[in-house]
Amino acid sequence: MFKSAFKPSPIDRENALWFIINGGRLLVRKNSHPVSVPTAGQLADFISGCGHTQFLGHLDGQPCFAAGPPKDFQPVDALEFRGLKSLFGRIDENHLWVAGRANQLVRWSRHHSYCGKCGQRVVDKKDERAKYCPACGLVNYPRISPAIIVAITKADKILLARSGRFPGGFFSVLAGFVEPGESLEACVEREVFEETGILVKNIRYFGSQPWPFPDSLMVAFTADYAGGDIQIDGHEIVAADWYPRDKLPNIPPGISIARQLIDWFFERG
Ligand SMILES: [Zn+2]
Repeated sequence: MFKSAFKPSPIDRENALWFIINGGRLLVRKNSHPVSVPTAGQLADFISGCGHTQFLGHLDGQPCFAAGPPKDFQPVDALEFRGLKSLFGRIDENHLWVAGRANQLVRWSRHHSYCGKCGQRVVDKKDERAKYCPACGLVNYPRISPAIIVAITKADKILLARSGRFPGGFFSVLAGFVEPGESLEACVEREVFEETGILVKNIRYFGSQPWPFPDSLMVAFTADYAGGDIQIDGHEIVAADWYPRDKLPNIPPGISIARQLIDWFFERG
């Protein structure tokens, strides 16, 4: 189990797991099955050259740090960088979520080294996870981009669509980013109508899942069909249709909440 924390104790520096992130890739031990991340002992002197270091908390009691590698860093033979998404199913799921958290925070730290208001260099705030500008006082928190994802049902069928962005051509439930000033429910109605021309009712909360690749928070809903015929723009959505349980198309794999929504439809009988 992962327990988030902000400030490490001195003992947390010993035997910690280090999630070193470089451009969406994670430093891992070569030929490890399942894939594992290096400990402080295995990284030795290298840790002192890292930047954007963040303490994340404890995974099953073991302290976890995130950081970016030193400039011009070449991994030693026993280590290599691998794309985070390529590790789905190859790394312990708890480690994957901590790596995602590391990815989100290191990226945020890297992209917010300077104040967005006055341009001065910022510093880490001492009492919370934020960047502080000593010149103008602006405080910047880690960015989280909320997005809705929704399973729409019509009698015994579910609406699934294929995005032009999906790799492998699979079909999934609809999703989209929340706009400033918009409620989650209004976002569900807008996104579904924009992408498919369908109206929905009975919007119900299903669950949520961080998707830190790089910084989303997926908020999942179920909803009922309320009217309209499917109309797609052929660009963002390239195909959409109503599918019964026994004729589901190619759907997304494993760990995503999109798959949990489709499984919910499949199992509800
Ligand atoms: Zn400033």
